[in-house]
Parts: sequence; C-alpha cells; structure tokens
Amino acid sequence: MALIVQKYGGTSVGSPDRIKNVARRVAQYHSRGDQVVVVVSAMSGVTDNLIKLAKEIMPLPNEREMDVLLATGEQTTIALTAIALHSLGVPAASLTGAQAGIVTDGVHTKAKIQNITPKKIHDLLNQGQVVIVAGFQGQTIEGQVTTLGRGGSDLTAIALAAALKAQLCQIYTDVDGVYTADPRIVPGAKKLDEISYDEMLELASLGAKVMQSRSVEFAKKFGVIFEVRSSLNDNPGTIVKEETRNMEEVVVRGVSLDKNQAKVTLVAVPDKPGIAARIFKAIGDSNINVDMIVQNISHGSGAPATDLSFTIDKPELLKAQKVIDSLKKEVGFGQVIATENIAKLSIVGVGMKSHSGVAGKMFDILAREGINIHMISTSEIKISVVIDLAKGEQAMKTVHQAFLG
Ligand code: ADP
Ligand code: ASP
Ligand code: MG
Repeated sequence: MALIVQKYGGTSVGSPDRIKNVARRVAQYHSRGDQVVVVVSAMSGVTDNLIKLAKEIMPLPNEREMDVLLATGEQTTIALTAIALHSLGVPAASLTGAQAGIVTDGVHTKAKIQNITPKKIHDLLNQGQVVIVAGFQGQTIEGQVTTLGRGGSDLTAIALAAALKAQLCQIYTDVDGVYTADPRIVPGAKKLDEISYDEMLELASLGAKVMQSRSVEFAKKFGVIFEVRSSLNDNPGTIVKEETRNMEEVVVRGVSLDKNQAKVTLVAVPDKPGIAARIFKAIGDSNINVDMIVQNISHGSGAPATDLSFTIDKPELLKAQKVIDSLKKEVGFGQVIATENIAKLSIVGVGMKSHSGVAGKMFDILAREGINIHMISTSEIKISVVIDLAKGEQAMKTVHQAFLG
C-alpha cells in the first residue's frame, strides 16, 4: 500500500468521458489498497475563457477578483471527478485548495505556497476515501482566495506530495512524458526516460509548458521525485530527479521555445548611476518578472544616454507599460518601443558545463538560416536567444535537428 499523488491536467479532464477515464485509473490504484490524492486542473480551455470574459469587461481587471473567478475552473472539475468515482462505487470527496489546507501569500494571480496543513486530507484517506483536491488555488491566512500562476496545478501536486510524504508523485498529461522539444512543434522530438531537476527547470522556465517552472523548483527544494506520463495510455513516462553523473555525457538535453514573451526598449535612457535601479525597482514592486536585460554602451554627443531593453511575460506588457509611463518624467528617457513579436529559443543541458563550443554552433546554425539574434543570455546549462516570433518554430526545428536529430 502506498500514498500516491496523481495530477491530471486540463486535457485529461477536458470532457465527461475524459473525467470517467481518470476515475477508472484512480479506481485501479484504490482497489489495490493505495491511498490516492488526485489533483485536477480546470477542464481544458476553461481558464483561458474566464480570462477572456474578464478582459471583455476591462483590459486590466483587479487581480483579487481574477483569483475568485479563475478558482471556479478547478472547483468544477473536483466535483465532477468525485461524481465519476462515485459512479464506479469508489468513495471519494472533493476539497478546494483552502479546504485542503493550502495557505499562500497574498500575491494575487501568482501566489506562493507558504504552508500546507493536510489534516483534512489525512482524515479522509484514513476513512478509505479518494481525496480530490482543486489544483492551482489556495487561500491566504486572512481567507482570501488565491491562485498559483498559470499551470499551477503542477505546483499543488508537487507541494502536496512533499507535505504528505507521498511514495509516488505522478503528473498525468496529454503527452507520454518530457521530450527533447515540444512534440507538437518538432515531430522528431524524442521522449526522455529521465531528466535532472535543473534541466527540467530550465526547459520549463524557457517555455516548455509541460511542467510549471515553479513546481519543478519546489520539487528540487524538497527532493520530490516525480514522473510525467500520459493519462491516455500505460507507457512509462519521464522521471524527474536529482542529477546523476552519467547525465553530463549528454551536451544538449532539450530545446524550448517561449512565444509568450514581450520586449520593451527604452530609448536614450540617461547613463548614470541609479537609473536602472529606479526602473527595475518600480517594475519589481508591481510584481512583474523581468527575464533578460540588455543595456548598450552610451551613444551620441551631449549627456550620455543608452538604450535599455528587457523581456517580460506577454500578459504583463500592459501593466509594465503603465509602470514605465509613470517613470518617464522622473527618469527622462525618450521613446518606449514595445513588441510582442519575439520568441525566445533555448538549448538546455547539464553537459554544457563540461563541453565548449556549444554557443558558437547554435549561432552558426541560426546564421545559416538567415535568422537575426536580438538578445542573448547564457547560464552554465543553457543558451537562450531572442529572435523574431515568425522565425521561432523554423529555428527550433533546425536547432533541434543539429543537436538532437
Ligand atoms: P496539462 O494540461 O496536462 O497540464 P499542458 O498543456 O500544460 O498539459 O502541458 C502539456 C503540453 O506541453 C504538451 O501537450 C506539449 O505540447 C507541451 N510541451 C512543450 N514542451 C514539451 C516537451 N519538451 N515535452 C513534452 N511536452 C511539451
Ligand atoms: N487551470 C490553470 C491554468 O490553466 C492551472 C493548470 O491548468 O495547471 O493555468
Ligand atoms: Mg500544465
């Protein structure tokens, strides 16, 4: 008998039939005598639709109200999943994030889990029930509804697996596991048997939405080993765990493409101490995450000035533009150029630590395809470039072929 946490994503619960399929899978584990905690997402498309509805009313809706709205998606699925289990004669109870004891900070739409008190879950499990928990949501200590950022059901599952000391954590999705690239874009992508936390974290943060990046960070911190696998077949999936020595033999583990970024350029920013600090403090205070930053050397005659570019998540562009506008007078920069027509292409692998020439090879491949690089950033285990959105998928396929084909 084991305590198992299973998470089913949006497509896996996307219709009544799919929910029945999930219930059949869960019932198998339950009949073996396992204690099963099931985390579910909203049915596919539901969260996007709720966001769209709110934006039809107002472009920048209040974030507290967005959380109240978005949490309804998962609340629908927990009840339907419980009903599907009941129809099979399996005792099951659904819990919202708050009822499951998930306490978060108060940063609406991207709250962080502060602690979990899983007493209610344990009580229900000890009664022989399957417990179904709403993913993606929690509650502040004051009782405000919060959500954990897009894809946040992954985080609910990993955090519950840690809090419950589960023997198994399975993330069920609509692909067989983690691939060397998004299999929907790169048909030649190969499924990986295993991947290190660091590589999965980089791939996830760089656009491979198969796992929410914060959930991988959490898994690494608490040593939660998990498996990404399909809810539609019984194929073994991908195990995500701490790096082992033989993992370094592979230079590039995967390629990812992030089409969800926007670039902002501030032209002629005064080149003097404290200006970048002023700009990025204001952006940080608004809880906008900045990814890449590039500052050029001063140009022109007269007072030294420089161009400053940075990237953020697309949905935060409107909010960022508001912050930037409010700084214009005080900081005294020129034009602000914002574009959503960019993509970030990245290659990731722990083997890069011990192999050289990888960046040169990547840039050469892009040059031969006539693709211009706007920004570059690197870490020990990844190389990212910002390119035109329109060339993103072509670039991804070519780079994947060259390194992993
Ligand atoms: P869920 O609703 O189950 O959480 P997501 O849509 O969030 O599922 O994530 C699964 C999707 O992630 C897949 O359908 C696939 O298109 C995409 N994906 C992107 N990169 C990868 C990758 N490297 N390996 C596997 N899937 C990937
Ligand atoms: N329903 C939420 C989303 O679409 C959370 C999740 O699916 O993990 O982002
Ligand atoms: Mg997901």
